Amino acid sequence: MHQKLKEFSELCEAIKSCNTCKLNAIPLCGEGNLNARIMLITQSPGEKENLSHRMFVGPSGRVLDRLLRQAGMSRKEIYMTNIVKCHLPHNRKPKENEIEACSRWLEKEMELIKPEILVPLGFFAARYLFKKYDVKLPKNEEFYKIYGKLVWTGEVKIYPLQHPATLLYNPQLEGEMVRNYEKLSVLKQECKWRVVCPMTRYHREGKLDRKWIELYCKGDWESCKRYQAEEAGIPHPDNMLPDGTIDETLGYKFTTSDT
Ligand code: SF4
Repeated sequence: MHQKLKEFSELCEAIKSCNTCKLNAIPLCGEGNLNARIMLITQSPGEKENLSHRMFVGPSGRVLDRLLRQAGMSRKEIYMTNIVKCHLPHNRKPKENEIEACSRWLEKEMELIKPEILVPLGFFAARYLFKKYDVKLPKNEEFYKIYGKLVWTGEVKIYPLQHPATLLYNPQLEGEMVRNYEKLSVLKQECKWRVVCPMTRYHREGKLDRKWIELYCKGDWESCKRYQAEEAGIPHPDNMLPDGTIDETLGYKFTTSDT
């Protein structure tokens, strides 16, 4: 058996035998592509997930599949898991001590899968990751503003999304959520210009902050002004940063191509 698959099976066995929180449920291990660039992290298994021992079955799973399909993606490209592995009675919210006890399993999954981008779905998963990586949390009433915004913490990239179940009771968010989920198809791969782009060279030479590479070249390259200029055949200087500003310290050279 492939080493990673073997380690994953062992981890799942350990997760399934956990009874720390005494929740009277069989803990649900994550599932999906073990080499995924993107890891979806949600709160806890629902009733259907608890009965079938599968991630995202039932109504919210159908919404997730549709959102992924609309983004031109499928479950095969991602890994999905929960912060709290056990179903919570009456679908109640997780308690702090449950999150604290159970997140060690999530940490082990992250160590094994090594995702490039963590995608928390909904409040509890996003709050957990923001706290863990010391990212400033907005006030509760402004929490929605974090959805669809890529964050580089200095260690990892986090791309928070609304939980798919949101659309079951808030259908007016359809347009916004479709747009936010569509970005996953950008995040699933690096920018095609990365190897030849001057930003890569500047970073290699120690002249460019890593955040530019993480947020754009290995993140949301679709929003990069250099990428957009390149695609449109618009001349742009080497020292133009991905957000379109000019960095005089990088030195100046005008080219019509990133090559
Ligand atoms: S700076 Fe822009 S064009 Fe260059 S590799 Fe990064 S995302 Fe692509």
